[in-house]
Amino acid sequence: MKRRRLRIDRVLLLILALLFIISSLILIIKLLFKKDEKTIIETENIKKVQEIGESASLIEMSDKYAYYLNYPKFNKTNIDKQIQKIINEKIDELKGYANNINNHNTLVKYQAPILYLNYNSYGSFKNISSVFLNYEFLIPFNANSEKGVITLNFNLEKDELLTFDTIFNSDAKDNIANMLTANLKTYSINENEIKNHLNNFIFTDQKLIFFFNPYEIASGNNGFIKIDLDINQIQNHFKQNQEKAIINKETKPKEIIKKTSFPVDSTKPMVALSFDDGPHPAVTSRILDLLEKHQVNATFYMLGINVEGNENLIKRSFAMGNEMGNHSFSHKSLPSLSSEDLYYEVMETNKLINNIINENPASFRPPYGSYNGIVKVIEMPVVLWDVDTEDWRSRDSNEIINIVKNQAKDGSIILMHDIYHSTADSVEEIIVYLKNNGYQLVTVQDLMKYKNIEYKKDQLYFSANNVQ
Ligand code: ZN
Repeated sequence: MKRRRLRIDRVLLLILALLFIISSLILIIKLLFKKDEKTIIETENIKKVQEIGESASLIEMSDKYAYYLNYPKFNKTNIDKQIQKIINEKIDELKGYANNINNHNTLVKYQAPILYLNYNSYGSFKNISSVFLNYEFLIPFNANSEKGVITLNFNLEKDELLTFDTIFNSDAKDNIANMLTANLKTYSINENEIKNHLNNFIFTDQKLIFFFNPYEIASGNNGFIKIDLDINQIQNHFKQNQEKAIINKETKPKEIIKKTSFPVDSTKPMVALSFDDGPHPAVTSRILDLLEKHQVNATFYMLGINVEGNENLIKRSFAMGNEMGNHSFSHKSLPSLSSEDLYYEVMETNKLINNIINENPASFRPPYGSYNGIVKVIEMPVVLWDVDTEDWRSRDSNEIINIVKNQAKDGSIILMHDIYHSTADSVEEIIVYLKNNGYQLVTVQDLMKYKNIEYKKDQLYFSANNVQ
């Protein structure tokens, strides 16, 4: 009888143990399944991309904790070591949670904390590869899971880990933080906090993508924040060796255009003629002919939308020594645009002009002269004017000539438009008048150079006498 009871106890114990194991398994399977249903980062949808590396897995399920880790292996000592280090840290963290729960001496000990970790890998650039690790801790009795993103950037060939400071030059931090801030208008963000959290980013396609974990730069209820920057926006910020390789995706033989330059006497008066809204096949050609005839230069603020089809005109103008200016892509009033559209207006035009002359336009003129709140974002010298010929209104060459005669003085920047024949009609008389009165006609860039004024971004140039 005694022996029989003992056996029943054992059977009961066995059944209980089995129940315990089965319920644990069900819980774990449930949680595993649940994880597949949602994206860990809710604020955006990163598709699973595994362009480089072999996929490795690490799974452990015990009654204390469970983890399910998926990570890349590259067979490169330094890179693999760094990934292993991150994984070990996360497992340690998980064990910490497990101990905490056990110490609470709760009745339902089998609710083990679980860690998931998955990755994306990107190898779209020759010299910078990126890995994006996302992890999530599911902790019993915590309403919210703890999630995070860790990124790694490296040169795969050289087995070399790269950081923000090894990829970008010294002024990149401030400038990129500015761009990110402009992208984050809807959140209340501390710009200095952004600078302190520029460690999570990846390179993919033609983009640099930054990630901010909850609480890093904004209140936690914003969750994860992801911001894309176009590679073209940040080209100036790469250290030179990085830049060369990262841009080589679409390299073509570069044509070197020889620039003419005319002698300038910096002790004598000078003005800058500037023409907006072109290029226009007929009008711009006429103006270039006149500038060439009189051996003078001017500045052209071009619209990106007018670039196509006028490549030879732009090349000719640049070769003559004229300044190539950006006047936005489509002449929208920029202060009313979203930061994304604003970037497009500026960057797309830079890119289109750069494709022709192999350098970026030297300066920017905002459509309608509306510059409020956008000067910092543009990252180029912003050029306005002090003499407005109002050529677009009068369409009368005599009126245009009279305004120049009455208002031009040493250091002036004169506003005209190379899309009206009436403007082209006025140009020769203006050149002759100015020359006869001792003025040299130079580009805005040269005007500043000869007046010893630094030509730089974040600055407004109304004339050589009025720089703000
Ligand atoms: Zn305009």
